Amino acid sequence: MLQEIHFLLTYTCNYECDHCFLYCSPRSQGTFTLAQVGRVLAQARETGTVKGVCFEGGEPLLFFPLLVHSVKAAHEMGFRVGLVTNAYLATCPEDAQLWLRPLMEAGVDYLSMSDDSFHAEGEDNPARRALAAAQKLGVGSGAICISPPALSAPGEGVEKGAPVIGGGAMFRGRAAEKLTQGLPLKDWRELVECPHEELADPGRVHLDCFGNVHICQGISMGNLWERPLAEMVRDYRPQEHPVCGPLSRGGPAELVRQYDLPHEDAYVDECHLCFLARKTLLDSYPGHLTPRQVYGLED
Ligand code: SF4
Ligand code: SF4
Repeated sequence: MLQEIHFLLTYTCNYECDHCFLYCSPRSQGTFTLAQVGRVLAQARETGTVKGVCFEGGEPLLFFPLLVHSVKAAHEMGFRVGLVTNAYLATCPEDAQLWLRPLMEAGVDYLSMSDDSFHAEGEDNPARRALAAAQKLGVGSGAICISPPALSAPGEGVEKGAPVIGGGAMFRGRAAEKLTQGLPLKDWRELVECPHEELADPGRVHLDCFGNVHICQGISMGNLWERPLAEMVRDYRPQEHPVCGPLSRGGPAELVRQYDLPHEDAYVDECHLCFLARKTLLDSYPGHLTPRQVYGLED
């Protein structure tokens, strides 16, 4: 059951991280207008099941007035409101409060700050300053920490002798291009499930200003500007979706088999194969695999 919607408020970001699922950068285009946010919130309310709204990107703080008004609109409609940011505006502890306070007054309930080496080095970094400011102001907050992938010793529940890739990065989007070199690989035929998304019954979706409803980044359920969210969710048949169908039946390996896609012998993990396989299908399913920019391609 759909319970959360995540606005990709903008694809633009001041960073260009190697692990970014969405290939965001300062050159990325695509930002919601306030009117579009209002339309989507109304659609979310019509579902009757969505309780939470999260604003993320890209970097949502780049469009600060839009963000504040969007948070306020979501809060006033009774949604629980979250925000994911790299916190770059937190140049010092006092100034972190300058932007946190209006967001708090607008009704934000929870802030997630990216605090890792992809975003900033050292103990005194923007995310830590923003976390400290959030605690001071009494806003719920937490850190998202992702490290560059590295081999570590096998842990509990891992096959003896098998190398383990630590760090928490997922190998889709830019990570599939930038972070996979030198990592241990698995036979593609073993990649038989989607480990991270509820493709059959999504509990949350990501939405962009082009109207795409992302089940996983770059896999669209449909377009919000053509069909209301409630109707789309009600009529969603995962088995009939050209990408989610095979992924649900047998993971990325089944996607490759169903469309007889070119492939290597082995990949780092399920997302690595899934992302590269989908990229070869973009021209066949442009309405379901979109937008092209999240595949690292120009429109
Ligand atoms: S991971 Fe976050 S901070 Fe990094 S480029 Fe992507 S959206 Fe920006
Ligand atoms: S396997 Fe594919 S659909 Fe599943 S989480 Fe990874 S990239 Fe997304």
